[in-house]
Formats: sequence, C-alpha cells, structure tokens
Amino acid sequence: MAEPAPVFTRRDILRFAGASLTLLVTPVAWGAAPTLLGVRVWPSSDYTRVTLEHDQPLRFTQMLLKGPDRLVLDIEGVEFNSVLQSLPGKILESDPQIKLIRAGRFKPEVVRIVIELKGEVVPQVFSLKPVGDYGHRLVLDLYPAEPPDPLMAFLEKHQEAAARPGQKPPADAPDIQRLVTVVIDPGHGGEDPGAVGRGGSLEKNVTLAIARRLKAKIDAQPNMRALLTRDGDFFIPLQQRVAKARRVNADLFVSVHADAFVKPTARGSSVFVLSENGASSSAARWLAQKENAADLIGGVNIGVKDPHLARTLLDLSQTATLNDSLKLAKAVLGEIGGINTLHKGHVEQAGFAVLKAPDIPSILVETAFISNPEEEARLTDDGYQDKMADALMSGMKRYFAQNPPLAKSKMAAVSF
Ligand SMILES: [Zn+2]
Repeated sequence: MAEPAPVFTRRDILRFAGASLTLLVTPVAWGAAPTLLGVRVWPSSDYTRVTLEHDQPLRFTQMLLKGPDRLVLDIEGVEFNSVLQSLPGKILESDPQIKLIRAGRFKPEVVRIVIELKGEVVPQVFSLKPVGDYGHRLVLDLYPAEPPDPLMAFLEKHQEAAARPGQKPPADAPDIQRLVTVVIDPGHGGEDPGAVGRGGSLEKNVTLAIARRLKAKIDAQPNMRALLTRDGDFFIPLQQRVAKARRVNADLFVSVHADAFVKPTARGSSVFVLSENGASSSAARWLAQKENAADLIGGVNIGVKDPHLARTLLDLSQTATLNDSLKLAKAVLGEIGGINTLHKGHVEQAGFAVLKAPDIPSILVETAFISNPEEEARLTDDGYQDKMADALMSGMKRYFAQNPPLAKSKMAAVSF
C-alpha cells in the first residue's frame, strides 16, 4: 500500500485562517437596534468558543492585542443589556483560554467586549445566519497558538516503543506493531445538542457518555487503544472528526449517535456505513441529511476549508474500505441485536459526511431512539450505556477476528 497522503494538521488550518484575522466587518441591516439575546461559552482544550446570539445582523470590528494578550470586539449600535452584563459570570476559572471577559459601553454607539486571555491565541471570528432554533450568531473561536496536542502525545507514546530496537516494548503492549487504534466519535456537542428527547435528554450528552465507556473498554484490551474526537461538551466540524482519525491512522472509526423521529413510537438501534451511490432507503437519506446538518447547527467557519478531504474522496482505496466498513457494521449490528430491538435487520447506507475517510473502515451507530420515551430512559441509564459499549466492543473484536489488522499500525510512523 502506498504511503498515506499527508493530513492537514490543525496548525495548517489555522495558518489558512490567519489570512482572515485582520479587521472583519459584516454587512448590517439598519432599522431597530440589534439586541443580544444570549451568550454561551464552550471551553475545551482544543479551543474555547464564545457565541453571542442576536436578532439581526451586527456590525463589529476586532483587534488582537498583546501585553497582556487580549481580544477586543467592538459591536456597533447594540443596547448594553442584561445579556452583556451576564458575560463576566460565564467564564469558568478552568477555561483553558480565557482569563476573564469584560463588557461595557465604549462610545455612545459602541459596546466593547474585552476578552483577557491566558496565553497567545489564534482567534476566528465569524457570523452565522439563523438556523434551526438559533437566531443570528456571532462566534468567537479562540484556538491556543501552541495547542496541547493529545493526538501527537498519543502517537508518540506508542511509537517510541516501536522505534527503539533492542528495547522491550511496555508490558501493556506486547505486540506494538499490531496495536489497533480505534477513534470513537461522540456525535454533536457544544452549540449542537443533536436530537432532544421528550424528557429533555440531549443526544450530545448520551453519545459522549457511551463513547467514554467504550473508550475505557478498548483501552483495557492489551493490543487496542482508543481516542475520542471530543472529550467534552464542545463542537467539532464533521470534517475535522474525520481528519483526527486520519491523523492517528486509525484502524477503525465509530461515530456514536442517538436517533429521533417525529413519531414517538419509532424505536430500535441501527448501524450505517457510507454509500457511494445514493442511500439504501429514503429514511437513511433523510437521516444522513439531518446528521450532516450538524455543521450548520454546531457552527463552522466556512472561511476555513480542509481541501485535503475533498481530494481524497476519489481515492481508489474507498471501495475496499467500504467493504471493511460493511463487515464491521454487520458484526456490530449482530451484537447490538442482543441488547436492543433493531430498527431494521440489516446495515443501511447513506452519504454521512463523518464516514468519508477513504482509508479507515467507518460506521455510524444510532444507539436507540431518543425521541422514544422508553428508549430515552434506556439511553440515559448507566446499565444500558454499558451494555451498548460492550456490544460495540464485541462487534469490533468479532470483526478483527475475521479481518486481522496486519501491519497497518506501522504506517502511523510515516504519517507526519
Ligand atoms: Zn446524531
């Protein structure tokens, strides 16, 4: 197999974004003064996002200042209301990027927001048009200039041992060459709650809980390691979830979700793989469209594109990968059938954006219907979450028993 193509790192992407860091001005609709409706802060070690929701487009300018590091945002023509007043109280002491936020009237027509930073950041400031339940959003994404890199640390830990000849591999990795890496992707997060149950449960919380359980089970295996695309309540664009998996040369990618439908009676678990030519059913097509809309709800800066992914979709390895994805999906579906009703008795296919890694067998699991009150109760139950994680684990093991991982993990050493 050819050497894998280089994957764009987050730093590369930030470099593209750097071009847009100068003064940014949005078009404005004049009329009644815009009003800020809400503010949300999503801290994480990847980046911290501040979202200001408002009822009509805003005109704003931004400045990144040093000594001390701070981002200054001037918004024109808004009232200094209780939302702005609440800003300072929204920042957690544990926020990796933000020290504090101040807001005040700077000039008669201008509200100034000052974000004092804990270190150097690369900000992305952009507007989102109304979508779903959200109005206009002004988004400030603060990426650390020197990001802590759990992916790199993850790889180094396992490659160090492989690279040192004559030295014994660590006891927990008896066969380092065949170490299997599974990337688990908890669906949604941050601004994107995913589906909401009638009892108020959020898909993003259920998916993270199940994903964490699955990670613990995988990490407990002697020859397997798992990595989460997100280990917190923040949003990651779909492409970046795939990029994270490619960066560590994952052997498998498992995206965890919970289904929803207008009728509360819809129930059962499903497993999906990518389709190259159309969806296997109209329901599967509809679901893929809904899941792909996560980027709109979650909020993606469209000024930053990863051109790598579009290109690699033409990779000839895609068909072989899809065959493996189907084998994995069947093994997992069989195991899930032992703990829950299956929505359909077979694996379904559709154009899920998150399943588009050309070289990593990928599945998307709808663990149950969060819109079904009975299944919502199960999804938030520790016992069911654990059983689901067990079923996913067993399905993977069954897949690997039939399709040994060979020497693929060696490629991880040349992917940078
Ligand atoms: Zn979902």
